[in-house]
Amino acid sequence: MNAPDRMIARVSLEIALRKEFDYFVPPEMAGEVEVGTRVQVPFGPRKVFGCVTALAEESAHPHLKAILKTIGAQSLVTPKVLRLARWIGEYYCCPPEIALKAVLPEAVRHEEAGWRERLHVRLLPAAESSEGLKLPKRQEEILAMLKTRRELPLGELLELAHTTSTTVRRLEDKGLVSIAPEISERDPYGREHILPSQPLPLNADQARALAAIMAVMDRPMPPVEQSDKKLEALATASPPKPGVAAGGQVFLLHGVTGSGKTEVYLQAIAHTLEQGKGAIVLVPEISLTPQTVERFKARFSSGTLQTLVAVLHSHLSGGERHDEWHKIRQGRARIVIGARSAIFAPVDPLGLVIVDEEHEQTYKQEDSPKYNARDVAVVRGQMEGATVVLGSATPSMESFYNCHHGKYTLLDLPTRADDKKMPLVRVVDMRQTMRRGTVIPILSPQLREGIAQRLERKEQVILFLNRRGYSTSLQCPKCGYVAECPNCSLSLTYHRQEVKLSCHLCGHTAPVPAVCPNEKCRNPAIRYAGMGTQKVEEHLKKTFPEARVVRMDSDALKRKEDYRRILGDFRTGKIDILLGTQMIAKGLHFPNVTLVGIIYADLALHQADFRAGERTFQLLTQVAGRAGRGDVEGEVFVQAFTPFHPAIQFARRHDYLGFYEQEMEFRQQLRYPPCSRAALLTLKGRNEDKVKFSADYLKRELEKLFGDFKDLTIAGPAPAPLLRAETFYRYQIMLRGQRMTQLSRRLAQLAGSLNLPDEVTLAIDIDPVAFS
Ligand code: ADP
Ligand code: ZN
Repeated sequence: MNAPDRMIARVSLEIALRKEFDYFVPPEMAGEVEVGTRVQVPFGPRKVFGCVTALAEESAHPHLKAILKTIGAQSLVTPKVLRLARWIGEYYCCPPEIALKAVLPEAVRHEEAGWRERLHVRLLPAAESSEGLKLPKRQEEILAMLKTRRELPLGELLELAHTTSTTVRRLEDKGLVSIAPEISERDPYGREHILPSQPLPLNADQARALAAIMAVMDRPMPPVEQSDKKLEALATASPPKPGVAAGGQVFLLHGVTGSGKTEVYLQAIAHTLEQGKGAIVLVPEISLTPQTVERFKARFSSGTLQTLVAVLHSHLSGGERHDEWHKIRQGRARIVIGARSAIFAPVDPLGLVIVDEEHEQTYKQEDSPKYNARDVAVVRGQMEGATVVLGSATPSMESFYNCHHGKYTLLDLPTRADDKKMPLVRVVDMRQTMRRGTVIPILSPQLREGIAQRLERKEQVILFLNRRGYSTSLQCPKCGYVAECPNCSLSLTYHRQEVKLSCHLCGHTAPVPAVCPNEKCRNPAIRYAGMGTQKVEEHLKKTFPEARVVRMDSDALKRKEDYRRILGDFRTGKIDILLGTQMIAKGLHFPNVTLVGIIYADLALHQADFRAGERTFQLLTQVAGRAGRGDVEGEVFVQAFTPFHPAIQFARRHDYLGFYEQEMEFRQQLRYPPCSRAALLTLKGRNEDKVKFSADYLKRELEKLFGDFKDLTIAGPAPAPLLRAETFYRYQIMLRGQRMTQLSRRLAQLAGSLNLPDEVTLAIDIDPVAFS
């Protein structure tokens, strides 16, 4: 493999330089260095890590330094994923080394995080014929043990045989056993016993959907060398362009909760495996429950298609992540199920990508590179000729719009798979309940009555409130003082159990004052306003003293196992009422839950974000979907102060299409996505005047730069909805237009040439989903 045409490697360094450098490949490394290999190279007086992005015969630079060493036996990024990283860097306006970091998990990148090795003792053939041998009693015993077990970890053997390693070493000296390090794989789900599952006979809608997907998979579809422009046009967020072929390779599976989308995914994956290819399944982090993972493992852990299912999410230890990742790279695991970053898993060849709950905001990474995994999935699918299935009960406006314009193919599952009825949704007008008192009530009489009924019938209840803590704020009724975070423009939340005030953005905590901190006031009767899950929990325990109430939010879950344990207790009926934040909104399936209560449905509506209505509709629909998954019909109570808001009313009627149509009117009028593409530029710094000044300067530069973009709107600068976050002031400019690739490219150039004050930084967010 000492080919002379492979002697120069182009390396992207992990230190931020926005540039690549050429290095000489020493002949002894020639076989090891390929595109994607991680290497250590000299850089000035330092040694730094990098990734090989290309191999070349010659370099424009004389006197190249040599690569010092390669890291890991196998290149860590496939050339295809490398190409995807390049696209991400360009499209999302970030330096290539940042894009590269995103595609490689930390634990795999680090040199130290290797396989865990353990010493194993194994019986050697000589021991089989050791009958005549005269051995001390201890050694005899150990040998006898090994004859039945063949092989076991040294530690285990020592424990079982009550012996020391010296004794075992004696046997090794005699050539009867070997002691050698053995890789022991960490399996995050290793302790579970999962029963294999068989494909279900599909109902007519499911069968139609699967047939459409398989027809595309069966079509010979070599990965096309598409131009970036074409790839961009196919990404979800983009408006359609005349003349760009739809490809028909992306499906939107719109199925109500419980319609059997997962069964369609499972059978499509089986088809991919039969074709000798692999699949990536993306689910939002919060849906990555043991329940979800189990369904995939159960289907593919036995039978003819047996393959490992690798799981990737943020709660794995560094070692577990390393092992899962290598199982994929070595082709032993051909199905990957994971959160956002699993879209970069080195599955090769890739046949199918599934993005479940495609509308979820968590697919968007908030740090650079600010990519949306759903859109990256579509682009990766195009690059590698893989079929992409986006699934949701409440598709994003973007994806549904793309179906209407022929870019994606819509597949419908309008009814629940098991013929269960959709739950009855009742909207409770909280203004009426409010009239009777001055404080905001937690439970309306209707919901309280509903809960009491369920408790009597030994059925279960889920209550949902998307706000943790006890009270949202601490306020003095006399002088109006509100306890605010010193770092952010947010009020502090009162946590009663921990007796502290805390900022949910930066984590700042403060003691709870006994009297109003205002020097001139000193009122001892300060009050707590608003409510969080802690307060609701307390109220429930008072109202239903017999009920077993458990709260599930990030405050209540201290350890990794808590989540599983609580869900397990709920399943086995040890809990009557499960109360939680969005953690319990998704993917859970409990047949005995017949009532779901949404404590405060308008909460998500009060956001300074054009997607507030869409989010509220999605959240209500998803939460309502948790009810009535068993034999008893489900009921949902939605408590709201604006009960006639369209998002609430359409959710009540389970009317996605109605919601979509009326929401589109609003988006069209204001040219918000999906009717245009957006980019959000945020300037931040500790000195508000400087930030403001820089924002005005940026606006002028943008106007100069984009003078020829007729359809571009430049809005702002305006203070961010959350003006101050973690001690930084923030001002924003929003761009809306049609041509995103050109926009990105020019923005990247502009970012490189701007003359901003030292303390002010610019962040570019392409296709933003959050406007805080
Ligand atoms: P979704 O993913 O759309 O929310 P699920 O795949 O979880 O729906 O399906 C809901 C329930 O219906 C599950 O218990 C599942 O086993 C069952 N189910 C799915 N497809 C079928 C089918 N064809 N026949 C009978 N039951 C089905
Ligand atoms: Zn704060």
